[in-house]
Amino acid sequence: MPKKYHIHPKATPLDLEYIFKFKIVRGENCINCGKCTKVCIYQAHKRSEADPRKMADPNTVVCKNCFRCIQECPRGALEKSLDKGFLSTGGSYWKPDMLISLMKQAEDGNVPVSGAGYRGPFTGTGFDSMWTDMSEIVRPTRDGIHGREYISTSIDLGRKLNHLVFGADRQLISKVPDTVDISLPILFDIPAEKLSSSIKLAMVKAATELNTFVIMPAADITADFEKHIDNIIPRFSTAEIDLHKEIIKKARIVSVEYDDALLKNIAIIREKIKKISHALLIIRVPAVKDVEFTAAKLARDGAEIIHITSDYCGQELNSPTGSGSRHLKDIIRSIHQRLVEDHIRDEVTIIASGGIGLAEHVTKAMLCGADLTAIDLPLMIGLGARIYEEREKYLVLPEGLAKIPTPILTQRMINLMSAWHSQILEMMGAMGIREARRLRGESGRAIFFEEIDKDTFGKLF
Ligand code: SF4
Ligand code: SF4
Repeated sequence: MPKKYHIHPKATPLDLEYIFKFKIVRGENCINCGKCTKVCIYQAHKRSEADPRKMADPNTVVCKNCFRCIQECPRGALEKSLDKGFLSTGGSYWKPDMLISLMKQAEDGNVPVSGAGYRGPFTGTGFDSMWTDMSEIVRPTRDGIHGREYISTSIDLGRKLNHLVFGADRQLISKVPDTVDISLPILFDIPAEKLSSSIKLAMVKAATELNTFVIMPAADITADFEKHIDNIIPRFSTAEIDLHKEIIKKARIVSVEYDDALLKNIAIIREKIKKISHALLIIRVPAVKDVEFTAAKLARDGAEIIHITSDYCGQELNSPTGSGSRHLKDIIRSIHQRLVEDHIRDEVTIIASGGIGLAEHVTKAMLCGADLTAIDLPLMIGLGARIYEEREKYLVLPEGLAKIPTPILTQRMINLMSAWHSQILEMMGAMGIREARRLRGESGRAIFFEEIDKDTFGKLF
């Protein structure tokens, strides 16, 4: 049995203000009896330091929403309401609840629990219109997370052979291509926004600890980062290959940005990079209309890894949001299907990114046909960033983040991935899948709302 993969979370509070869902307000009819100080075990209620006869303002940050103080106040003086900051953050995709949940997971690495029963809608858009078949959850021997059965989240990156060829003397004739094994089906991708070098360094250190990689513009790889090159994927355009020769030489994997010329000259570009280094090559392709044809052509021409990047809400790029724009899940399904039809699906690795905001999105993207995913915004949210679904601003990093020591930022990213790892294991266990490699394209384990809706009601309406 392979060595079990463990992530080590550690409670790591971030001393920065964040949004909270509810605000507690103490009304004028409070008689300062102090009962709320006794009933709240989280010490959200305290007496004023300046005048202990009076109560201080409630500390909403530590409140766990149990409602006990509200029920037990003899005067009904306490009130809980949705906070305005909560309502104005996020949007229809990056829901404020999601931001708070990511922030909490980064705090301690615990799996979020939403309380007694799920009260939300049963379907929505994007990944929310997809349900996973958890029928194995009742199997008595299911114990993947707690030790007896091993569930592997490892993934291989690289080109694989369709079949092996042996000679008459039973010697293997096929040349088996190199692959790189990572322990989580998640790569880190540096967001396009300007980040401080301490955040980037934290991403690199977390990726090293987690045995994964950070995709990073080659121009940003200074001497400080070069010592971590084993876990960095330098990213550059085809025109910059010569410029970044030295970095390419040292890297295990490199990422080149797709352009139209690359589609025609992929063999030449691959050859040019192979002359510099034995690094695996990722081709980073924007998820525009008809991207499946581009991906299929690249795969037929020998691409080993294709990275499909949609926008931050998982939408197809360059298309108006709405009926014509596809979500990442549909784009990946279509690419997977095309590669299966062309009999080359097993040979190429597909990375999906954009709109991956929860652990369940990783599993769902893989069920749709991705081998693995890449993430950027969840890591930033774990550091206190807010998302706004507005044209001019979508990622706002908190003031004061630059002063937070790198080890704290690193540990929070590790915590977040620990919580995601546990959730991915939970989903895989409940689906009866023991290896993350087997999730890829396993759409029989998923139910797509649009499809059953059409099957059930399509003929009537
Ligand atoms: S229990 Fe109610 S009345 Fe008593 S101090 Fe708290 S808020 Fe005021
Ligand atoms: S709702 Fe519960 S956790 Fe929040 S302040 Fe009141 S007693 Fe404390």
